[in-house]
Amino acid sequence: MTKPNLRHADVVIRSAHLIDGTGSPATYGDVAIINDKIIAIGDLSEVIGSREIEANARALAPGFIDVHTHDDRAVLSDPIMACKISQGVTTVITGNCGISLAPLTSKFLPPPLDLIADRPESLFPDFFAYLNALDNDPPAVNVAAQVGHSTLRIGAMDNLERPATGEEIKSMRHQLDHALEAGAIGMSTGLYYEPASAAPTSEVIELLKSIRDARGIHTTHMRNEGDHIKQSLEESFRIGRDANVPIVISHHKVGGISNHGRSRETLRMIDEASNYQAIAFDVYPYVASSTVLGVKRLETASRIVVTWSKPHPEMSGRDLSHISEELGCDLITAAQTLAPAGAIYFMMSEDDVQRILSHPKAMIGSDGLPHDDHPHPRLWGTFPRVLGHYARENGLFTLEEAVRRMTSLPAAQFGLMERGKLNVGSYADLVLFNQKTVIDRATFEAPTRAAEGIDLVMVNGRTVWENGAATGARPGLALRRQSLGQMGSNTTSGC
Ligand SMILES: [Zn+2]
Repeated sequence: MTKPNLRHADVVIRSAHLIDGTGSPATYGDVAIINDKIIAIGDLSEVIGSREIEANARALAPGFIDVHTHDDRAVLSDPIMACKISQGVTTVITGNCGISLAPLTSKFLPPPLDLIADRPESLFPDFFAYLNALDNDPPAVNVAAQVGHSTLRIGAMDNLERPATGEEIKSMRHQLDHALEAGAIGMSTGLYYEPASAAPTSEVIELLKSIRDARGIHTTHMRNEGDHIKQSLEESFRIGRDANVPIVISHHKVGGISNHGRSRETLRMIDEASNYQAIAFDVYPYVASSTVLGVKRLETASRIVVTWSKPHPEMSGRDLSHISEELGCDLITAAQTLAPAGAIYFMMSEDDVQRILSHPKAMIGSDGLPHDDHPHPRLWGTFPRVLGHYARENGLFTLEEAVRRMTSLPAAQFGLMERGKLNVGSYADLVLFNQKTVIDRATFEAPTRAAEGIDLVMVNGRTVWENGAATGARPGLALRRQSLGQMGSNTTSGC
């Protein structure tokens, strides 16, 4: 694996437990880097690095790919991205759940768009402008961005409570084509949410014809993840088949006590559909979800914690039941008093979370909300939690399998060529971590604590996290669709 005649490299990482991202058993060796690429792997005792890093048998893996984020604005407003690099994340996929900052100009920011856009000025009229902003002021992590269906609807329609007309679909497709030309990688939907819940299946299929032509990807926060999850999965499969695009089911879960255990049924459905079409899904490792605080979600949760509130910021971090007692009102009135607001909902079962995580197709996506005052701990804890809690402590899968779900699997799914595997010629997106101690420290009470055991993180050959702190380097790239490979691959061989 060593390049002949190689004597000198920019960086040599020595004596590492090499987890290559494919799921294969770890090997032992050194890795050499020149500029932004891995140039040799193996016994590199003959090679001298300008910088030498002694791994002492700690794990070295490809940087983690967070496939489900709402980092659209955070990568610009807080480009150091400590919440992600502290976990070993080196690439984020944005534009999920139907919401993106571009292409849109609007004074109206209906939920859930307000999770990423705090004011009209944070929007971008077109996708070129958004990606250019990332080029001009890059973040620490790589970004691959999708267009949100709800964003398109808000831009094209005067009334969101009805299906789009033929003219409006035409106008949305025009915007979408333009965004794809700029480098957007696909389109997401959030059919669960008010700005898109009136959109019929046919509207989505019509728009996705642009995604099919551009060979992009479609991710979906489905219409329902509770009592009607079966129908929602069927709708998602139909959308993928009729539009002929690969589908990613976002943050797969089954919500509500009466639905606990139904992941057996949903995973079986996904397996069956996978025989005929490209289907993937992601999951976060917690029994609680988090989104805007809304009345229709109150009854599915056993506990609700407020994450932010515009009129009552002092309520962040408190239980909604305590707030309603204090105010002497019911939960609905309390929620209405706090709105616009966000919340954490305890609504899944641990068995379902583990069953979904264990599925070989499960990609890891944090779904973290970076602008919340008191965020869900998944924002800071997702990846170390899968490595430390679920792989090492619970033995749900091997460490190599855990890493595969965060690296080569998502890289193949999103066409991220030369990322996601420890290969000669791949980009030096790397994470050096202590496999014996790595663990999440963010909790529902203290949600912004950095994880332990993530010792060094490199993006495109530059160190962004070391000794428990960000270095300040911001080598992240805006990854445009044109530079990516085939999306929706069901195997890990595509990258
Ligand atoms: Zn979502």
